[in-house]
Amino acid sequence: MNRSGHITDALSFDIEDWFHIVEVASLADPDAWGDKESLVERYTEWIIQAVTEAGARCTFFVLGWIAERYPHLVKLMVESGHEVGTHSYWHRKVYELDPETFAEDMRRSIDVIESAGGCKVLGFRAPSFSITQGTEWAFDVLHDLGIKYDASLFPADRAHGGYPCKEGPHVFEGAPSGRPMPELPMSIMRIGPKRLAFSGGGYLRLLPLWLIRRGFAQQHARGMPAVIYLHPRDFAPDCPRVPMPLHRRFKCYVNTRGTKQKLKALLQQYHFASCADVLGIDASAG
Ligand SMILES: [Zn+2]
Repeated sequence: MNRSGHITDALSFDIEDWFHIVEVASLADPDAWGDKESLVERYTEWIIQAVTEAGARCTFFVLGWIAERYPHLVKLMVESGHEVGTHSYWHRKVYELDPETFAEDMRRSIDVIESAGGCKVLGFRAPSFSITQGTEWAFDVLHDLGIKYDASLFPADRAHGGYPCKEGPHVFEGAPSGRPMPELPMSIMRIGPKRLAFSGGGYLRLLPLWLIRRGFAQQHARGMPAVIYLHPRDFAPDCPRVPMPLHRRFKCYVNTRGTKQKLKALLQQYHFASCADVLGIDASAG
């Protein structure tokens, strides 16, 4: 809740390129990523500018692979007053890794992001919200690496993840060590008996603005912030198409042309801050 009595919503972007989408065989080889034409730079610069001009703050969960190649983007995020978190290094799903591999990947991502931005990484969002039941050990890895909050849980069913947690900001108590971790899960709205994500990725692109606003209103009525998550490719009508099943293809590429206007409309209507801000985590406390 901010001073005017309105709820402050969380605005976040997962910074990765079009070829980082998961479970596409033709993109699975990281050695081939460097040869592909990138769209991350152009669209991330637009995002930074749009959010900053609107007077809002946001969190960029940056892939370590991106931070290593485009350190100036990370620097620009920090200089523009935004928070930089990690989205892992290689964009592998957490439930497919063992704790040691996950820790190694995360350590590398934190190192490159912190040295690019001259900042401390406090938050994590898992690729494809891939902390699932049975993967709670990931929270202990995060604790050991000094991560102060998580934004990876998706409290509904989805293709590559989903976790039956509380909705809204809460403290996750399910780590095997019992250490508590502040958690900012994805927002879910109700339409009749259905529970539906509305505030990010393909959901935000697909749904009309009036329905997204209804989702915000539902969250606020429950005393919760809405959590927006978008990627640079969500804004990119020129995003290269890759072969995939028709239903996924639709969800990956539908309505990219409208995303800039949607974000601008939301920035105008709601008050946005970073995920750390919304959770009340003090960045200066390190
Ligand atoms: Zn991702």
